[in-house]
Amino acid sequence: MNSTRRTEFLPFHRPSIGDAEIAEVVDTLRSGWLTMGPKTQRFEEKFAAYVGSRHAIAVNSCTAALHLLFEAIGLGPGDEVITTPYTFTATVASVLYTGATPVLVDTLAGYPNIDPQAVATRVSDRTKAIVPVHFAGMPCDMDRLGELAAGCGASLIDDAAHALPARYKGRMIGSIGRASAFSFYAGKNMTTGEGGMITTDDSALADALRIRRLHGISRDAWKRYTAEGSWYYEVEALGFKYNMTDINASLGLHQLDRLGEFQKRRHELIALYEENLAQVPGIVTPEVPSDVESAWHLYVVRLDPKRLRTTRNEVIELLKADNIGTSVHFIPAPLHPLYQQRLGCRKEDFPNAVGLYEQSISLPLFPAMADDDVLSVCRSLERIVAENQR
Ligand SMILES: *Cc1c(COP(=O)(O)O)cnc(C)c1O
Repeated sequence: MNSTRRTEFLPFHRPSIGDAEIAEVVDTLRSGWLTMGPKTQRFEEKFAAYVGSRHAIAVNSCTAALHLLFEAIGLGPGDEVITTPYTFTATVASVLYTGATPVLVDTLAGYPNIDPQAVATRVSDRTKAIVPVHFAGMPCDMDRLGELAAGCGASLIDDAAHALPARYKGRMIGSIGRASAFSFYAGKNMTTGEGGMITTDDSALADALRIRRLHGISRDAWKRYTAEGSWYYEVEALGFKYNMTDINASLGLHQLDRLGEFQKRRHELIALYEENLAQVPGIVTPEVPSDVESAWHLYVVRLDPKRLRTTRNEVIELLKADNIGTSVHFIPAPLHPLYQQRLGCRKEDFPNAVGLYEQSISLPLFPAMADDDVLSVCRSLERIVAENQR
């Protein structure tokens, strides 16, 4: 048995659900109102105030948020959306839902966010949206991407699934692009079980989104079963069933209250990782540009193949043997059969994203982790690296 093996399994992630969240869910269950209603509305108001946007529209996932946005801006066949291959499948798939064409451009070299120079080579009059992903919570170059979007009349819509809370040049992510999409999936920085949020300052867009998230029925349709409501409604647009429920919003209200506390703990854990991994040869820790504040959704380290004679996959297995759970973010879109078939993309065209993917491991990171948990991961990595030096 390894000298560094933990006795208890350390998961890659575990959500922090407190008594306040549980009490709020119970209150909702007893209230007689389970679906979208007053608690969702309160959650939206609180969320908009938190990121500094005029509107927040709650939905049942970030995938739904992206799809709804692409529908609301009228994407269809012939339109193009420029985005990154280094993301979760939902970013690219939600473009395909509308019949529009995702145009994938590579990340920067050795850095996981989209390369604005590469975006510049692909903008055209067919470009209707530019969709950056703030990888691991690290904001993209929003000024440059905003200029490129403005230059071709496209919308800057950011996939902010990792970026709560994050700042770009002092401004909160969620208040910069035309609209931003957040995720409250169980593994994200705060969770509603499943859920998502769109933020925007554009009131006409917000109206279009509110109508389309609930069957395309006229505004405030959810009130039709309340005392103020009426049975009559009209379907104004082709909508979807993407609304959040008050059960999920109950979790969100308190998770948002606790986000500051979660982030403080994430920062402490990151500092511990940094302190203990800085001197480990062959482990490359993430760099944060000076003009951004990361949400630190993930802590992704890279293995330098020049220093190590083991593969990323082997290291994952060795960590697992030490009772440590890890993950990989992301398997780039061009490696998936769907995108090879639908977009004709080849992995050779995305050397930066594919290179990052092949070297990266996401280490455990969640607020309930103890200092000792971080230290045990570092000890295991140090041993694995020491046994596999070139
Ligand atoms: C998690 C994630 C999504 C999808 O979020 P859901 O709420 O699960 O739909 C989209 N984009 C990125 C980058 C993600 O990590």
